[in-house]
Amino acid sequence: MVLRVLLMLICMFFFLGGFQANAAEYPSKVITVIVPFSAGGPSDTVARLLAQAMSSQLKIQLIVENVAGAGGTIGAARVAQAKPDGYTLFVHHIGHATAPALYRKLTYNPITDFEPIGLINDGAMTLVARKDFPVKNLKELITYVKANKDKVNLANAGVGSASHLAGLLFMTAIETDLTTIPYKGTGPAMNDLLGGQVDFMIDQTTNTTSHIKAGKIQVYAVTTPQRLPSLPGVPTMQEAGLPNFKMTVWHALYAPKGTPKPIIDRLSKALQEALKDANVRQRYAELGADPVPQDRTSKPKLRSGNRSSKKPVSMPTDELAAVVDVPAREHVRRKL
Ligand code: ASP
Repeated sequence: MVLRVLLMLICMFFFLGGFQANAAEYPSKVITVIVPFSAGGPSDTVARLLAQAMSSQLKIQLIVENVAGAGGTIGAARVAQAKPDGYTLFVHHIGHATAPALYRKLTYNPITDFEPIGLINDGAMTLVARKDFPVKNLKELITYVKANKDKVNLANAGVGSASHLAGLLFMTAIETDLTTIPYKGTGPAMNDLLGGQVDFMIDQTTNTTSHIKAGKIQVYAVTTPQRLPSLPGVPTMQEAGLPNFKMTVWHALYAPKGTPKPIIDRLSKALQEALKDANVRQRYAELGADPVPQDRTSKPKLRSGNRSSKKPVSMPTDELAAVVDVPAREHVRRKL
């Protein structure tokens, strides 16, 4: 018995010692950043710009791997199982907080299986439709989809994605159920919107802005309470006719639970520096994404869903979970 305890202590000493040594040398090899949606979509865009800037900070390459499907929960499950050594990171958004309200069985706990490194950005969403959708503004769109609810369809990135949550809020607001078409990300959903195979979606500006500006899709409203400098001609949902519709999508960077604190601190510092990077700031601004100010990125704030934030565009996690909970459960029951 004494021998067994002694052996256990020796093992623990070497295990922890190994981690301490690794933390001091960290990073010494390529870091993988898992994005739980398809390549080319909004989370991918946010993550790739960040990974590039963090690579310069950490003097090591960060590569993005897309592990898409099931509204982000497949990628999250992969990260929850990954070795907590700082070489697997995770970029996810508001859907990470709301997944437990939508999925009856998750193999991970978004709070206890992950170590938050910091918030990345707040992003606006836009209600967009295929180029030849036969309506000119939001009011006309609402009348049209209510009258043609068996014909029109709404694309999203799977149950629990931001576009799905926004779609649920929209269907609740207009009191109409629509057929939804889930993809593994709004990257591929956008391809079908551009090709006219789907009718409309509510998606982050990081994925819609260039197509709106090129005139390849129609835009009816932004979901933030204020208009965006990147799309000044586009009205807010309130201005366009849905006074209570507000939604913003935050992204955050995580590591698997158990990643040593010195590594988390190192990554957190690199994240902060990356968010000051001129290229990141310029590209985020062009795409309508706001890097999160440093005072909102501390762990206690991140854990509490930024409750203390006065910024209206940041929807507190718990609040959104409560808002989507009831309608989402109903829709999931009906549609899955
Ligand atoms: N973040 C998803 C993506 O990158 C889109 C969504 O959540 O609606 O595809």
